[in-house]
Amino acid sequence: MCNGEKNDVIELQRRLTAVPALNPESGGEGEWKKAGVLQKFLQRYGFPAPVHHDTPDPRTPEGTRPNFFVRIRGKKEKPCIWVMTHLDVVPPGERLKDGSWKGWKTDPYKLHVDGDILYGRGVEDNQQAIVASLLGARRLLRSDITPPNDIALLVVSAEETGSEYGLQYLLDSHPELFSKDDYIIVADGGNDDGSLIEIAEKSVLWLNFHVSGKQTHGSTPHLGDNAFRAMAGIVKDLDTALHRQFDAEDNLFRPPVSTFEPTRHGRNVPNINTIPGEETFSFDCRILPRYPIDSILKTIEDIISKADAKYGTHTTMEIENRLDTPAPTEPDAPVVKAMQRALKTTRNIEGNPLGLGGSTVAAFFRKAGYQAIVWSTVEGVAHQANEQALISNIIADADVYESLFLHGCL
Ligand SMILES: [Zn+2]
Repeated sequence: MCNGEKNDVIELQRRLTAVPALNPESGGEGEWKKAGVLQKFLQRYGFPAPVHHDTPDPRTPEGTRPNFFVRIRGKKEKPCIWVMTHLDVVPPGERLKDGSWKGWKTDPYKLHVDGDILYGRGVEDNQQAIVASLLGARRLLRSDITPPNDIALLVVSAEETGSEYGLQYLLDSHPELFSKDDYIIVADGGNDDGSLIEIAEKSVLWLNFHVSGKQTHGSTPHLGDNAFRAMAGIVKDLDTALHRQFDAEDNLFRPPVSTFEPTRHGRNVPNINTIPGEETFSFDCRILPRYPIDSILKTIEDIISKADAKYGTHTTMEIENRLDTPAPTEPDAPVVKAMQRALKTTRNIEGNPLGLGGSTVAAFFRKAGYQAIVWSTVEGVAHQANEQALISNIIADADVYESLFLHGCL
């Protein structure tokens, strides 16, 4: 690792961390300021001028949310290799009376360097990738190499709050930016050796149930309808039926099956000799892409109505969160193969295309019909107190980007 580049990592991270780029939903602003800091570096390093497609948002002082890209011209304009990162960060948490932040050993907005480790809000999510992709591309600029294909570093807002004011806006309002055979890397997630290439995700379904029976005294159960017993029956029936009916395995995923987990349940009665009339409970379901969510809901509704008939209760279901996953990126898509090649060249490891149980911003690209991957070499401490990133990971990721950019599309 050359020291100059290491110093640049620290300097970039220091300047970026100092800007609290919180979303309006999190009570903040600062995406524009952070964009300004980043663009100064891009200019200093000789990148082409940024192209903006900002999202209108009257809640911000500027009236917009910044989205921009810098595009380095290659020998071929298409396919273009895109690396997408985001400006915004999640709030650091609670500020204590003495000015420190709960759980943090240092000021989240002041970069703290400890050997190879950088601490601060945003150093991993998503500045690690902002810095790594920028340095990878800068190496080409410095050696005056025209890459085989166009390279675009895309930086968006609003990733932490649903992407409506960021990537979703770009895809809806400027679909001409992307072409279907472009290589799209969402540099916002991965594992600690960089072998994970995320290409798919499960659908997510969070359900809240409310069971209404009839409360009565512990000595006279025949005068009530025990909501606890009904809940227990429903939970057991859901658990059994969902796992039995939607039992396919897909080795792209860890675990390879759909999961249906009873999670939270509410308080019921305060004393032991009261038969409860009300119960609440929740399920967290992560569903393989092959199963439409509606088919899951239909099964659940059937079970509930049978249980209500059996226990004399009335049960309602509320969907707290529903994400229907788009078709996965193909495990042998060109962008996957290009990443595998870059990992082999730079690290001598095999890139492993896998699915995740949660939703990522790459889903927006996939929904729009693009083959996107999520990749990065991260410790996985995003959103936590004492968020950290390793300088060595950032430089190693820059190596991968350099290789990817130098070799171009397959
Ligand atoms: Zn992120």
